[in-house]
Amino acid sequence: MSDFAALGLPEDLLRAVTERGYTIPTPVQAQAIPIILGLRDVIAGAQTGTGKTAAFVLPLLARLGTQSTGPARRPPRALVLTPTRELAAQVEESVQHYGKYCRLRSLVMFGGVGINPQIDGLRRGVDILVSTPGRLLDHVGQRTVDLSAVEILVLDEADRMLDMGFIRDIRRIIAVLPKVRQNLLFSATFPPEIRELASSLMRNPAQIEIAPQGTTAERIAQQVIVCDRGRKKELLVHLFQTRQWQQALVFTRTKHLANRLAEQLDSQGITAMAIHGNKSQTARTKALFEFKNGRLQALVATDIAARGIDISELPIVVNYELPMVAEDYVHRIGRTARAGASGAAFSLVCVDEYRLLESIERLTRQRFTREKEEGFEPDPSAKPQPIETGRGQQRGPRGSSGSGGNDAVRRTDGNRRPSPGNETPRRSGPVPEGNRRSGPAPDGNRRAAPAGDAQRRAPVDGNRHGGPGGGNGNANGNTSGNGNPGNYQQRQRGR
Ligand code: AMP
Repeated sequence: MSDFAALGLPEDLLRAVTERGYTIPTPVQAQAIPIILGLRDVIAGAQTGTGKTAAFVLPLLARLGTQSTGPARRPPRALVLTPTRELAAQVEESVQHYGKYCRLRSLVMFGGVGINPQIDGLRRGVDILVSTPGRLLDHVGQRTVDLSAVEILVLDEADRMLDMGFIRDIRRIIAVLPKVRQNLLFSATFPPEIRELASSLMRNPAQIEIAPQGTTAERIAQQVIVCDRGRKKELLVHLFQTRQWQQALVFTRTKHLANRLAEQLDSQGITAMAIHGNKSQTARTKALFEFKNGRLQALVATDIAARGIDISELPIVVNYELPMVAEDYVHRIGRTARAGASGAAFSLVCVDEYRLLESIERLTRQRFTREKEEGFEPDPSAKPQPIETGRGQQRGPRGSSGSGGNDAVRRTDGNRRPSPGNETPRRSGPVPEGNRRSGPAPDGNRRAAPAGDAQRRAPVDGNRHGGPGGGNGNANGNTSGNGNPGNYQQRQRGR
């Protein structure tokens, strides 16, 4: 009996897990799967990279009955909410991977792409719906989704949903769900608002804590290099060259800098693209796809755009600029050293960011050596200057002069607003006009194949099944050459 079989998972799922190359459940999987199969609510403190997706997707598929079908036009029985489009797409990819021998249908929905293919998908019938909160509320407002059959609710990366200001959206969604259901909440950190949400949502939940709050994965070698503000780009290029970095995910605070830095790296012979909330979904997907396939050496990202990005074997994360919010540091470096691999995180820190560094040290309960790279030693007489956040205002770390970022800016109440171009939480009122369409879907938004075929599981390419965590390849649809966002967002399975 494999270690996964001992957790009580059915054969259909064990086959898929074995094919993916997993032999040993990660700690969060070992703990969460039996509890979820036992129908209990779960609050799990697990960072991304711990295998948390499979920890809820596997028992969720088992709970729904892997071979159950029901009427063709069935409403979803499981709902997974995620903060970002990328994470939604990746979770649904996981549903496809782990559910490849199941007769369950899944659908992913998020904003920024046509709503009509999603409406079509919902009409055809779905078992597992993965969505960002804003777009789901659009469907609720238009009455194009029936949530009355939801038996399992998963809030994935709940702290990030809070940060992005989705908490009210989530409450509005919960209000239309059946009262009796299983609730699963996954979060890297547990600020008071998340605890409050959990206690209002759950009855006697099992609590699973994989990594204590604020601690960073032990397998990540973290290095801080102090340098002058004006020499970071030069230093980054130098590090790429002298340390022979094959690939690095590079974080900036602002979208503007992400763009500029990607261009500058590219012009210095380091292939790079930017990914952030102002980029179209197609551009984001393309950048991610190119990076995952090793055609880019650097992916320059802002915090929210990078959230949920799962790149197997990503060895290096660079904080080109430290995040305004210390928790983001934990999320950023969690992009590397995933599922047992090791990784390294480098932070290029100038005098303006010393306070940010201290707040990261407080949160992660560690003290970094301020290392110097030869030839890039900082000017000891340099004075700190206001930090550029992309919003023309100075912000300090949380607990000092307020905080914020560009992609996500903390409000005074501790929540954040999302960037334009990412999911937008609704403050009040129904669906924004821009997201509504009354007429039929333009052809470009529809899937070309007839419904029956379209709902069949798309054949997976080698890229997706290359082994443990082998490239989630969620650029699938957009690289098919037809530029149809529907293909990307609308993969549906079902036999
Ligand atoms: P997650 O924390 O869900 O984003 O997963 C992080 C990475 O770990 C993904 O690339 C998964 O494919 C991979 N993974 C999940 N479970 C296992 C496992 N039991 N063994 C090896 N890799 C895993």
